[in-house]
Amino acid sequence: MKHSSHASRLLALFCACARLRSQALNTLALIESMCDVLVETGNYSVAAIRLSQAHAETQDPPRALKVARGHPPLLWSELAHLKEFALSLPLACEEEDHGLLWVTRTDAAFEEPERQALAALAADIAFSAKALRARNQQRRLDDKVRQLSRALDSSCNGVMITSSTQLDHPIVYVNPAFERITGYNASEVIGQSGRFLVRDDLAQKGLNEIRAALRNQQEAHAVLRNYRKDGQLFWNELSIAPVRDEHGEMTTHFVSIINDVSERIAYEQQLEYHATHDVLTGLANRNLLKDRVDQAILLARQSEKLVGVLLLDLDRFKLINDGFGHIPADNLLKIVAERLAHCVRDTDTVARLGGDEFVVVLGNIDEADSVASVAAKIQRQLSAPLIIEGKEVFVTASIGIAMYPRDGIHGENLLRNADMAMYRVKEHGRNNYRFYAPEMTHMALDRLDMEGNLRRALERDEITVYYQPIVSLKTGAIIGAEALARWNHPRIGMIHPPEFIPLAEETGLIIPLGERILRLVCTQLAAWRNSGMPELQVALNISARQFRQNNLCDLLRQLLDETGLKGDAIEFELTESMVMHDVENAITMLRELKDLGIALALDDFGTGYSSLAYLKRLPIDALKIDRSFVRDIDQQADDAAIAHAVIAMAHTMELRVIAEGVENHEQLELLRKFGCDDFQGFLFSRPVPAEEFSLLVLNGKTLADIGTKP
Ligand code: C2E
Ligand code: MG
Ligand code: MG
Repeated sequence: MKHSSHASRLLALFCACARLRSQALNTLALIESMCDVLVETGNYSVAAIRLSQAHAETQDPPRALKVARGHPPLLWSELAHLKEFALSLPLACEEEDHGLLWVTRTDAAFEEPERQALAALAADIAFSAKALRARNQQRRLDDKVRQLSRALDSSCNGVMITSSTQLDHPIVYVNPAFERITGYNASEVIGQSGRFLVRDDLAQKGLNEIRAALRNQQEAHAVLRNYRKDGQLFWNELSIAPVRDEHGEMTTHFVSIINDVSERIAYEQQLEYHATHDVLTGLANRNLLKDRVDQAILLARQSEKLVGVLLLDLDRFKLINDGFGHIPADNLLKIVAERLAHCVRDTDTVARLGGDEFVVVLGNIDEADSVASVAAKIQRQLSAPLIIEGKEVFVTASIGIAMYPRDGIHGENLLRNADMAMYRVKEHGRNNYRFYAPEMTHMALDRLDMEGNLRRALERDEITVYYQPIVSLKTGAIIGAEALARWNHPRIGMIHPPEFIPLAEETGLIIPLGERILRLVCTQLAAWRNSGMPELQVALNISARQFRQNNLCDLLRQLLDETGLKGDAIEFELTESMVMHDVENAITMLRELKDLGIALALDDFGTGYSSLAYLKRLPIDALKIDRSFVRDIDQQADDAAIAHAVIAMAHTMELRVIAEGVENHEQLELLRKFGCDDFQGFLFSRPVPAEEFSLLVLNGKTLADIGTKP
C-alpha cells in the first residue's frame, strides 16, 4: 500500500511536470513552477532548482526555491545546512551540465527507486530548459532578423551583401532601394560580382580604396561613378564593411551601403562652375581669369615669352541695353562672347568681367605685334552686323592692351593698365585698340612738368567733374552721386585724381583746384534743379588742406548764396586722418559746416584710425566703407566680418552706411544682408559725365535694371 501510494505520487508528479514543460514561457518560469509542483504534488518539504550560467540571460543564472506550507522560510545559503533528508541531483542532458535539483523531506530517507525517478525528472527538466532556451534564442533571433529585414526594406540607401568566401565576391542580397537606385532587379544581380556597377569606368581613385579594403577585410568609404541599368551615370557614396562569422574571426560577407549622391555632386559641380564662370556667356569669370593670367605669366616667365592682356569694353552698349531691353542685350553679349572665343587659340582665355567688359589673355607670345593683330581681328569679327529683334545692329569695342612683363608682372597690374589704355581709347573716339604706355599714369610726367601742367589745367579749364550714382539698397533708386574730379589732359587724355590730387595737395594747388570743383558742382546742381530734375545730394571729396583752410565755410556760404542751393544738397566727404589730426579744431569746423546744412560723411572708413571714441564725438551723418573691404567681401571672411561690424556699429550710432566699389552681385547681396543703406560701384555705374548722369536719373535707372531686386 505504501508502495503504491508512493508510485501514484510520483506518477502525479511526472504528469504535472510534463504539463508544465509544455506551458512554460521561459526557463525561470519553468523551474519556478517545477519547484511548486515538487512541493505540492510531490509532497517534498523543500524543492530548489538552480540553472547553470549558460541559461543566464542577464547576469545571474535563474534559480527557484519553494518550501512546503508550514515549513519555516529558507534562504538559499541555508539549504546545505538543513537538517532533513536531502537529495541533490545534477540537471544533466547530453552530457552538458544544466544545474542542480534539490529536494528534501523530513519523514524518510530517499530510496533507490525514488532517487532514480527523480534523476529522470532532473534530466527532463534539463532537457526542457535547454529546449526552451534554444527556442527563445531562436525567437529573439527571428525577431531581430525580421526587424533588420524590415529596416533594410525601408532604407533609402541601397544595400548589397556580397559573399567574400567565394571567388569574385558574388552578390547574395540586395534591398529594394538598391533596385530602385540601380534599376536592376534582385534576380538580375544575385550571383554577379559586386563590381558590375562601375562598368569599364575603372580609372577612379576611390576604386583603389575599395579594393584595398576588400583585400584587407576592412571598412572603406569612397565616392564612385556608377552606372544604372539604362547606362545613366550616378554618383555612389559607397561604404563597405566586413561581416565576420560568429566567432568574429573570418570575414564571410561584405555589406555595401549605396548612397545615391548624384544631386549633391551635381550641385557642387554647379557651384564650382558658377564660382569660375560667367553664367550668361559661359566664359571664365573674374576668379578663373585671375588663375589663368597667373598661369600664363608663370609659363611666360619660364619660356621667356610675353603675355598680352586685352581689356575690351563694348562701345555704347548702354544704348542697346536701353533701346532693346535686357534679354536682347544679353543675347548680344552671348554672340560677342562666341565671336571673341573664335578669335583666339584654345589655350588662350576669354573672360567676362561683368556688364559689357571682356578680357582676353594671350599667352606664349613672341612679340607685341601678334597681340595687335589679335586685337585687330577681334575688331573685324565684332564689326560684322548682328540682327537683334529684326534690326541690324553694329557693335564696336574699345580695347586696351597691357603686356607682360613690360607693363606689369602681376595680373592685377596688367588688368589695371589695360583698363587705363582702354579708357584712353574711349576718350579718343572709341572703336580702336591701344597699348598701355607708362605716360598714361602720372609716372610719365615728372614732378615739375606735372605741376606746371596742373597750373595750366586750371587756367585752361581742363578740370571737369564726373558723377558716380549712389543707389539706395532699400528702394533701388539713385539717391545721389559722388562728384569725382577728372583732368582732361589734351595729350594724355583723362587723368584720374590719385595721379594729381596728392601733388595738388603738396603744392597747395589743391586750394584753387578744390574751389573750382566745388563751384562746378554747385553750378551743376543749380542747373539740374532749374531743369526740374529731382533733387539729389551730391557728395564732394574735401582734401586735408582744403579742410584746414580758414575760409572754406565762407566760400561755401557764398556759393550757396549765388546758386540759391540749400546746404543739404551737398555732402562733404572727409577722411579719418584729416579729422584725427586735430580733433578739437576739426569738431569746431564740422559744426560750422553742419550749421550751413551740409551733410558730412567719413570716407574710406576702415583704413584709418577708426577710433570709436572720437567717432562718437563727431557731428557726422554717414560712413563710407572703403573699397578695399568691399572688394573681397565675398571671398574673405575677415573683410565680410569687418564690413558687417562697421555697418552694425554705424547703425547703433545712427549713421548711414554707404559702401563704395561694389563690382558684383555677390558683394551687393552680402552688403544688403548686412543691412548696408546705400552703395556706389561699377556694378551700377562708373563715374560718368554730368549729362550722362542726368540721363541715368531721368530714365529712372534702378537696381532692377542691373538684374537685382531692391
Ligand atoms: P574716393 O572718394 O574713395 O572715391 C571713390 C573712388 O572709387 C573713385 O575713384 C571711383 O571711381 C572709384 N570707384 C567707384 N566705384 C568703383 C568700383 O566699383 N570699382 C573700382 N575699382 N573703383 C570704383 P577716382 O575717381 O579715381 O577717385 C579716387 C580718389 O581721389 C577718391 O577716392 C578721392 O579720395 C579722390 N578724389 C576724387 N575727386 C576728388 C576731389 O574732387 N577732391 C579731392 N580732394 N579728392 C578727390
Ligand atoms: Mg569719396
Ligand atoms: Mg572712398
